[in-house]
Amino acid sequence: MYAFPLRLHGILLFAGAALGWACLPGTALGQDAPSSETALVIHGGAGSISPDEMSDDHEQAYRSSLRAALQDGNEVLQNGGSALDAVQAAITTMESDTLFNAARGAVLTSENTAELDAAIMDGKTRNAGALTGVRTVKHPIRLARTIMEESYHVMFAQDGAEAFAEQQGLDLVENDYFITASRRSGDAPGSADPPASAAEGEKFGTVGAVALDDEGNLAAGTSTGGISDKEFGRVGDSPIIGAGTYAHNASCAVSATGQGEFFIRGAAAHSVASRVRFGGASLDEAAQATIDEIEALGGIGGVITLDRDGNMATPFSTQGMFRAHVDTEGDTSVRIFDQGSGE
Ligand code: ASP
Repeated sequence: MYAFPLRLHGILLFAGAALGWACLPGTALGQDAPSSETALVIHGGAGSISPDEMSDDHEQAYRSSLRAALQDGNEVLQNGGSALDAVQAAITTMESDTLFNAARGAVLTSENTAELDAAIMDGKTRNAGALTGVRTVKHPIRLARTIMEESYHVMFAQDGAEAFAEQQGLDLVENDYFITASRRSGDAPGSADPPASAAEGEKFGTVGAVALDDEGNLAAGTSTGGISDKEFGRVGDSPIIGAGTYAHNASCAVSATGQGEFFIRGAAAHSVASRVRFGGASLDEAAQATIDEIEALGGIGGVITLDRDGNMATPFSTQGMFRAHVDTEGDTSVRIFDQGSGE
């Protein structure tokens, strides 16, 4: 067993030396309208999906999965739980759902394995936990939270992340658990083709959430299998604080999806926050400008964003982005193709 410095140890050491739409009332999620100003936005990935190419059944399946995750996260908020707990709850639900490219249902590497990345960030403290390249941790978002809360570190990779998960008593599974028949058939090993972009065809499904709790705190989280046919050891933007995930009460909470390499180069999530905090931009302007900048670099994708006033912006440069929200009025929306986050 590896010996990891726990948070306490770290602190002692230091002292010594993150088509269409449906708008439904809050009650449609089995929740009464919130008594306080809470909000939640989730995404299930961005990609080149057109309404014409998606069957009604497929679309309804995504909508219902998004609603389920939104409900789980919102329940936490309605019960007075923290933004972090809401983000974790919504993402945990999507990680178990094979429709999404996160944990169970993850896309495969060039070696036909699932390698998972995740991150979570607390907007109040800017504490964060992240991991990359794990193959056996059932719920990467839980590991991210545990890293944030139980270690002195922010990010663990591969074997070290798995050893830490084991030490912390998290659920471990065989890599096969993550691999679904549809991913296997769509991901031929040893393909001579370059890695498929995260934003092409069915190759999307990264999940993320941003939340605002009744104490006015923000949180963000992202979980993914990355991009199809990625090389062994490839790290995307999702687990990189400031690229795919970021939260700070002073600005906003952000979770990104799309071609990770470009989101890393554009420090996308932090760029949204900086435009708000230092540039005086509205959340809408900041989020759109960042997506435009990523596009100028050559990449496509989207972000979900939320601030302490309950403002939300969800721009994307792909044909669609699976997303849903419940706002401070308790109104919910599930959208795939059209731009905008409001009704
Ligand atoms: N951004 C993720 C990555 O590059 C993939 C995605 O969002 O679809 O790993």
